[in-house]
Amino acid sequence: MAFVITSPCIGVKEAACVEVCPVDAIHEGEDQYYIDPDVCIDCGACEVECPVNAIYMEDFVPEEEKEFIQKNADFFRNRK
Ligand code: SF4
Repeated sequence: MAFVITSPCIGVKEAACVEVCPVDAIHEGEDQYYIDPDVCIDCGACEVECPVNAIYMEDFVPEEEKEFIQKNADFFRNRK
């Protein structure tokens, strides 16, 4: 399980989440920020910090945003 960054982040990239993540799981992509599911410890700190409510625990990602679960994971898979 991990937290996931969804579409409201695209083009906003406020980055408030990056500051609060205790394990540096959040990295900048071209269009949005992403959470590395292998590093995230599910603390929830980023979710409350996000000004556009783009972050959800994996199980609570809205139906129309579910593709972002894979998009977050893929971002890191392609880098490892
Ligand atoms: Fe980092 Fe916690 Fe957010 Fe996971 S839930 S990305 S560990 S701040």
